[in-house]
Amino acid sequence: MSDRPLPPPPDGHPRWPVVVVGAGAAGMMTAIHAARTGVPVLALESARKPGAKIKVSGGGRCNVLPSAVDEGDFHTEGSTKAVRKVLRSWPLEDVTGFFADDLGIPLKVEDTGKVFPVSDRSGDVVSALLRAVDRAGATLATAATVADVVRGVDGFTITMADGGTVDADRVVLTTGGLSLPKTGSDGAGYRWARALGHTVLPRYPALVPLLTDAGSWDRLAGLAVPARLTARAPKVVWEGEGDLLVTHRGFSGPVVLDASHRVAAPWGSGTTLTAAWTPDGGTTDWDAHLQQGGPRPVAAVLRDTLPRRLADHLCGLADVDPSTTLGALRREDRKRLVTLLEACPLPVTGTEGYRTAEVTGGGVPLAEMSTTTLESRVVPGLHLAGEIIDVTGRLGGYNFLWAWVTGRLAGVAAAETMTDAGSATG
Ligand SMILES: Cc1cc2nc3c(=O)[nH]c(=O)nc-3n(C[C@H](O)[C@H](O)[C@H](O)COP(=O)(O)OP(=O)(O)OC[C@H]3O[C@@H](n4cnc5c(N)ncnc54)[C@H](O)[C@@H]3O)c2cc1C
Repeated sequence: MSDRPLPPPPDGHPRWPVVVVGAGAAGMMTAIHAARTGVPVLALESARKPGAKIKVSGGGRCNVLPSAVDEGDFHTEGSTKAVRKVLRSWPLEDVTGFFADDLGIPLKVEDTGKVFPVSDRSGDVVSALLRAVDRAGATLATAATVADVVRGVDGFTITMADGGTVDADRVVLTTGGLSLPKTGSDGAGYRWARALGHTVLPRYPALVPLLTDAGSWDRLAGLAVPARLTARAPKVVWEGEGDLLVTHRGFSGPVVLDASHRVAAPWGSGTTLTAAWTPDGGTTDWDAHLQQGGPRPVAAVLRDTLPRRLADHLCGLADVDPSTTLGALRREDRKRLVTLLEACPLPVTGTEGYRTAEVTGGGVPLAEMSTTTLESRVVPGLHLAGEIIDVTGRLGGYNFLWAWVTGRLAGVAAAETMTDAGSATG
């Protein structure tokens, strides 16, 4: 239901030339760029207040962009070359310039390489986008839930949840994924895309904390420690470094979130994760270090480098008495400890699911749309942008970058086609 009756198409237009379905990150960017061409644009958003996901992002600070990018920062079932082509349509420095100069949001790069608003307020990003949508002349209807999108002979008919309809020449689907459903993402866009003839690759929670049922890790809950993770299936399929956080339910922290798609994806079953603990930067040769001999207890030696709770936990996992001196440490005990220090198996049983996932893996294959317009190759006149596409970025502003770049690309292309066609005026 919409708060107000939906506006009819502007005079001289039997249908809205461009309708954007979903005004999140990608949808707002689509609406801004489509409307700036002068073509009438209607954006339909189910939430009363658009931008809920932007609001909660980056811990309320919104990691709006990364400071460097290449296609290797993204995962897709399709071609990474196609991802590169899309990313090149709006180079990172131009996107950064758009936020700083056009939207008026001063940005800062943090040591991690992540880019945030100087104000550290995600609300500023939402407000600036909404102002830009308005300035561009797009019409944004909030509390306007779309129930269906159907292709007819003369364009599209969009059925609203309250039974009303909106006719459109072109539709841009920016309904997002399934992650954090309380922000308005229920996967409706996937259903329409499939009904319209698209493939929808299996979806899965990504950038998501992992679960364990191995109770012994619970004692470490709250511990954050630098680690290098390796995913094997059975060969090495992924490696990454960063902070690992032990939770009451399993494992989280940046490096775990980045690794999560490797175990959460349907093709990830059987993938194992191991951790090398790296508070020392990964420089210690543990085998040599533990062979020094002498009177110091093993646990004390481990604690020189590792947090106390982790050192004790690893002794427990290795079945080594922590008070054993290095001099008395048996070879097989040392070997077990070294394995746990350099390739400790993380007993992962699943993920926390969409409730806490930052993004959705899988979705509509990029190969089913043009990389220069994001227009569907299956349904002429339909464009797609944002998380609904089978491309997910790693942690660090990459998913917003994908939303901004694809939103702009789809918006400009949808509108320019209408300009070229002189629109479907009367
Ligand atoms: C907790 C959290 C933190 C995150 N932090 C970051 C971060 O700091 N940096 C980063 O790069 N990424 C981050 N992300 C990921 C980022 O938010 C998403 O990648 C991005 O929002 C995707 O943009 P989108 O426009 O495709 O989808 P969304 O932003 O989800 O927008 C989809 C919109 O469509 C609307 N909609 C859905 N169905 C309908 C319908 N039937 N009718 C009308 N409207 C509909 C929804 O209400 C929503 O407004 C985070 C995600 C989460 C969950």
